[in-house]
Amino acid sequence: MNLVIVGGTIVTVGSRGIIQDGTLVVEDSRIVDVGKSNELKGKYPGYEKIDARGKVVIPGLINTHQHAAMSLLRGYADDYPLKEWLEEWIWPFESCMTGYDIYVGALLTAVESIMSGTTTVNTMYHYVGDYNEAGAFAEAGLRGVIGHVCFSWRKNQDRKALRDLAENWHGKSSGTIRVSVDPHAPYTVDPEYMKELRSLTTELNGKHGSPADPIIWHMHLAETSDEPKKVEDAFSVSVEGGVVEYLDSLGVLGEDVVAAHCVSLEKRDIGLLRERGVKVAHNPVSNLKLASGISPVPSLLEEGVTVSLGTDSACSNNVADMFEVMKLAALLHKGVNGNPTLLPAERVLRMATIDGAKALSWERQIGSIEVGKKADVALINFDKPHLCPLYNEMSHLVYAVRAADVETVLINGRIVMEDREVKTVDTEEVMEKAAEAKERLLERLTSDQQ
Ligand SMILES: [Zn+2]
Repeated sequence: MNLVIVGGTIVTVGSRGIIQDGTLVVEDSRIVDVGKSNELKGKYPGYEKIDARGKVVIPGLINTHQHAAMSLLRGYADDYPLKEWLEEWIWPFESCMTGYDIYVGALLTAVESIMSGTTTVNTMYHYVGDYNEAGAFAEAGLRGVIGHVCFSWRKNQDRKALRDLAENWHGKSSGTIRVSVDPHAPYTVDPEYMKELRSLTTELNGKHGSPADPIIWHMHLAETSDEPKKVEDAFSVSVEGGVVEYLDSLGVLGEDVVAAHCVSLEKRDIGLLRERGVKVAHNPVSNLKLASGISPVPSLLEEGVTVSLGTDSACSNNVADMFEVMKLAALLHKGVNGNPTLLPAERVLRMATIDGAKALSWERQIGSIEVGKKADVALINFDKPHLCPLYNEMSHLVYAVRAADVETVLINGRIVMEDREVKTVDTEEVMEKAAEAKERLLERLTSDQQ
């Protein structure tokens, strides 16, 4: 479809900066022109027109750490200590989830993401055959990196799932779906398996990926301070130099690694992450809710590590709202460091857009509004009391905009939400399916426990 988005303020997060009274031209999936409205007027006759006066147009937000299917556990278990939370609540519940539940949960997250201006989601969950997260994202028209999470206790199952996932989904749905290999964490994936997963990634890239369209890695790393001890206890290895050095000694770190959390880091870890080009997905809401600690994001940024943002799952957040994450990221590091100049609004918006794209090795196609890139954009209605008056769009985007201010969203040039109505799936129906899935899961859980 060819369309023009006319009259909005375009925050490009790219070389053009902010364009007041701008026009954005989309042909099929791509941005083909962007500039001042008066310069582009009449140049694209017959194109469908979206009136963006009073709106701010931004690159769609990129959520680099999710477990999309887990929306079904939203509010199921809050406020427990981590071990009890996982072992007594989350894992027993998850063991009752079928492929269909995973699909429904991911569909709910996809709708929620689109409705809050997120156009790309990096999700780590279990890949199963017929129904899965990839199918849900494709149905909703959401761009995503779909992972299969790997554990030492189920290697054969993982190997098959990863091969199936790569074959069935990498580059599919008009290129909006990519896949990843997801070692769960250093303490659940033994050193030999970690190395095997690295070789498998190379093999799968040879078959299904390319340097421009790679199959990446997504893992949890340094989420809590006891992680080195957990690795030592699990695999009888020495992790004296910390988990980052340990992983590096296995030769698995690289530019294609998205490392979620990185809360408990020493100075030398930060240097090593930079040297290897590892990307850090920062999840401030989740880290606070689980009392994991606070990632040294200002130091990571100062060292030149790419830091993107994520919500983490609905269990530890409990929403998929990247505007909330942006605001909290900006506030948290100011507060704990006693320095209000840290993580200024413009920096944080970059973390949620272009740096998210870099984290997913997708920056050539998404993350900013530039000619040649994919048309993944969100239109935000700024005609609201809480966004008035307006001095600086960046400031409002990070500190004042609410997810519900997002009005219209395009992904890959397709209008997936218009005036807050999701066009790809029936939102009411998705919520009904999720509510039904919850009832079925609770039934299964009680019969399991009897
Ligand atoms: Zn996670």
